[in-house]
Amino acid sequence: TFDYVIVGGGTAGLVIANRLTENPHVSVLVLEAGGSDQGIVAAEAPFLGPTLTPNTPFDWNYTVTPQASLNGRSFPYPRGHILGGSSSVNYMVHQVGTNEDWNRLAAVSGDPGWAWNNMRQYISKTEKFVPPIDGHNTTGQFIPSLHGFNGEVLCSLPGGNQTIDSRVIATTQQLAEFPFNQDTMGGDHSLLGVGWMQSTDGGGIRSSSSTSYLAQANSRPNLTVLINATVLKLIQTGTSGSLKAFRSVQFANTGATSVATCSGLRTVTARKEVILSAGSIGSTQILQLSGIGDAKKLASLKIPSTINNPNVGENLSDHPLLPNVFSVKGNLSFDGILRDPNQINNAVGQWISSRTGIFSNNVANHYGFARLPPSSTIFKTTHDPAAGPTSPHWEMVFANFWFNPTVALPATGSFMTIVTVVISPTSRGSITLASSNPFDKPLINPNFLSTDFDIFAMRESVKAIKRFLAAPAWSDYVIGPFGDAFSKAKTDAQIEKYIRGLATTIFHPVGTASMTSAKSSAGVVNPDLTVKGAAGLRVVDASVFPFVPSSHTQGPVYLLAERAADIIKAAA
Ligand code: FAD
Repeated sequence: TFDYVIVGGGTAGLVIANRLTENPHVSVLVLEAGGSDQGIVAAEAPFLGPTLTPNTPFDWNYTVTPQASLNGRSFPYPRGHILGGSSSVNYMVHQVGTNEDWNRLAAVSGDPGWAWNNMRQYISKTEKFVPPIDGHNTTGQFIPSLHGFNGEVLCSLPGGNQTIDSRVIATTQQLAEFPFNQDTMGGDHSLLGVGWMQSTDGGGIRSSSSTSYLAQANSRPNLTVLINATVLKLIQTGTSGSLKAFRSVQFANTGATSVATCSGLRTVTARKEVILSAGSIGSTQILQLSGIGDAKKLASLKIPSTINNPNVGENLSDHPLLPNVFSVKGNLSFDGILRDPNQINNAVGQWISSRTGIFSNNVANHYGFARLPPSSTIFKTTHDPAAGPTSPHWEMVFANFWFNPTVALPATGSFMTIVTVVISPTSRGSITLASSNPFDKPLINPNFLSTDFDIFAMRESVKAIKRFLAAPAWSDYVIGPFGDAFSKAKTDAQIEKYIRGLATTIFHPVGTASMTSAKSSAGVVNPDLTVKGAAGLRVVDASVFPFVPSSHTQGPVYLLAERAADIIKAAA
């Protein structure tokens, strides 16, 4: 038996596993559905990260339900199915949210411990900032005093020129609308402006929760990690006062399609607690399969209710992404390499032999964040949904190649892509069970761009990047928008049509097990991350954020998990 059973060896789960087993008298079992992350080149070479999803063994291979506001389109919804979870398959952008994100979480949960002035301490436990792979002088590209240099996860600045770099930087000097931002991590420094991307890699290799937190703790005798172990549900283990205790976990070997045909069906009971860290989709599904959810909906699937809480699976919030592709002159983009198998093989060979070359760097070097002007018409009808007055509404990411996840790279042409993202969305969706079979995929409906604000912000982002490219820095480079839909997107109505036909996800789902104050019957978990109405059970992963942070989400998850570990230790 174990003191703690952690469901999901992903981003958050492995932080908890490491921190709890620092005490040699505490025993921990981690159950991870995916396999090992070792020896997988694409999981190590930063540029190859995007090839790990979708439709691979490393992905849960979910799709979203037809999206009503996106012309009824359905598309992949990747999640890491591998040790390290999504931190092993993601695009490695490193940020921690804005101070206003954390202060809003403190206000909503009623727990000042979630406020930024407390959370900032965890940066030094999480981050190990290292020099870029090319060893260039990084003065002015980040603010060292904001960062940690002795934490677990390697972080670095870009180590290779993407050939558009100098044009991006020149634009920040030419257009006052897009100022340079010297540090893009967030937290103590504003996210607004355009600056150098920080990535969770070092020495040309991805750093995930597995290569960092787990690698560091792996040899401890009090830590057991079981891979290829899919958790089916939690089992009630009695009561504790008015609370129902859930300290047992049922799991089986990964790979089955039904409970009847699965092998290795077992139950393990935690002496102290079960910690659900299966991610926004996995944790939600497991709660519902355990009868913790909307009793009426569960009854229709013949799942006995244990805790009736209609909030489980609701409030799904994610950042919608729009891949805006531009045709460019010359052959300096990466498209020539990416459409030539010989050049790809050479680049892989170079990465394997020396951890250098194009694949040792992340897919983008620059990105930026902006707010809508206060005079925007949308604010006549919609309350500003940003986390606060200095948090962004939208984001732009600059890639030196064709990046349109839904359409293959054309046979000819050079491209650059400016991905834009609504960073303070007001759309809310849901995750519901499709059946009582734990091996069936749930119904995932992010409900993208279903509000006036979200479509407005996305529309303005498209106009803004056209202004960005109108700077002198681009005059001898950019030919214009690629493709009919984008080229014709001039009026608001045309831009909206273009957006609805193309938008997809930037993979940041949160909110389906939202944190609210201990007194509130809304939400799913209390500020100490215990599940409302339950004993012996916490959720520690992205699903507990009631609002999606104004940044990429793995950094916020690392900080959340570090504090959760402290909370769990203090409760023991
Ligand atoms: P995860 O890290 O997904 O961990 C959940 C774990 O639980 C997984 O290992 C999963 O296999 C396991 N699991 C699930 N169900 C079960 C079950 N039933 N039984 C056993 N195990 C189970 N964020 C950024 O900040 N920067 C980026 O560049 C970025 N890019 C992304 C790109 C992609 C393709 C994806 C998918 C995500 C990206 N994100 C990015 C988002 C970020 O990675 C996630 O927000 C974060 O990693 C989520 O952490 P988590 O602990 O909640 O879940």
